[in-house]
Amino acid sequence: MEITTKWTRRGFMGGISAFAAALLNARRVLASPGGTDAAEAGVTGFGHSGNVYEELGVTAVINAQGTMTMLGGSLMRPEVESVMAMAGRHFVSIPELEVAAGKRIAKMLNLPEGYSAIVTSGAAAAMQSGLSGILTGDNPKFILQLPDLTGMKSEVIIQKSHRNPFDHQLRSTGVKLIEIETREDLRKAINAKTAMMHFTNFANAAGQIKVDEWPRLAKEYNLPTFIDAAADTPPVSHLWDYVTMGYDLIAFSGGKAIRGPQCAGLLLGRKDLVAYALLNNSPYEDTLGRSQKVGKEEIVGMVKALESYLKEDHEALNKEWQRRLEVISAEVNKVRGVTTKFWTPDVANHVPHLDVGWDKQHIALTPEQVATGLRAGKPAIVVASDEHPEVISMNSFMLQPGEERIIADTLSAYLKTHSS
Ligand SMILES: *Cc1c(COP(=O)(O)O)cnc(C)c1O
Repeated sequence: MEITTKWTRRGFMGGISAFAAALLNARRVLASPGGTDAAEAGVTGFGHSGNVYEELGVTAVINAQGTMTMLGGSLMRPEVESVMAMAGRHFVSIPELEVAAGKRIAKMLNLPEGYSAIVTSGAAAAMQSGLSGILTGDNPKFILQLPDLTGMKSEVIIQKSHRNPFDHQLRSTGVKLIEIETREDLRKAINAKTAMMHFTNFANAAGQIKVDEWPRLAKEYNLPTFIDAAADTPPVSHLWDYVTMGYDLIAFSGGKAIRGPQCAGLLLGRKDLVAYALLNNSPYEDTLGRSQKVGKEEIVGMVKALESYLKEDHEALNKEWQRRLEVISAEVNKVRGVTTKFWTPDVANHVPHLDVGWDKQHIALTPEQVATGLRAGKPAIVVASDEHPEVISMNSFMLQPGEERIIADTLSAYLKTHSS
């Protein structure tokens, strides 16, 4: 009896420590900034230095431009990396996981009854899959048939000022985008072929019909509405605001300010439409969305990222982002002829920004030249030169600790060197 207990206990403890060791090892590989830990964990080839980019001969940059997909979006939270590693150790049914993750996400966001979510490979994928679902419903023939729209509706209405490069993901379903400007245009454009009304949130100010009116008008005609809100957190409340406004489907990027996996996004909305979207997406084969694969790791990582994002002290973060820009502003203002200005976009990338301008009499450089100069420097720094005329623009929410100091010193030195 005694022996049995002992053996059982030892077996149990052995299991625990093996699990703990595996976790520790995984964490080491994931967290190691230098070479030592990686070497300890047995990384001897690629990745041995701890800097995979340098090993490939690609320069890592200081990102003062924000959550640009071109630069890699955002940096994942460490806890997201950890759950993704955990997710990578088992096989599961992906559709079952999508449904379960969606339930958890809807609960975390306190979405009303009748709303759910799936994790997509990004906001762009959410747009294509969401619209696909609206077009096909759960009709298997239609799902196989896309982007041939025979038998389906074929038009999506969009305000002319809301057209943008991401509407390619709507056009990829085969629909025709019908551009309108006024309410009257809209009413005239609606017909039996109209599948959906699309809204681009960052263009809210540019269009005559605003974000809250769009779904109200659509409801008069019983048409579904979609809002592309990819870069529209912060504020965090945007994650549920558009449901409250009456939008049927909403897309967010997972790899922007939420700092989830780079190849993840959220499609939130009406339960039926979200389910149809999933039927048009990977892992299902012979679907338009099969090319927008979402891994088990991304699905799980997205759930974790959202949990962390919701718990964050957003006011404190905003203060910290402002403080970093003030460090840069104070330093560059010491250079003769330099002026700075703080601003925050109303929607999309709603975080503190800083513009830096200079008197061309003293410093004969264009904003493009400064941006190119900083990009070519060591360390390489990325800022924007096309946000406003005659200035460079930057934000600080993607900076790593201490990088504001590097930018402050590098930029002032650069401007001083080119002063006359
Ligand atoms: C970034 C962005 C997208 C695409 O989002 P992904 O998550 O990268 O697919 C779509 N629309 C807008 C407005 C965006 O800013």
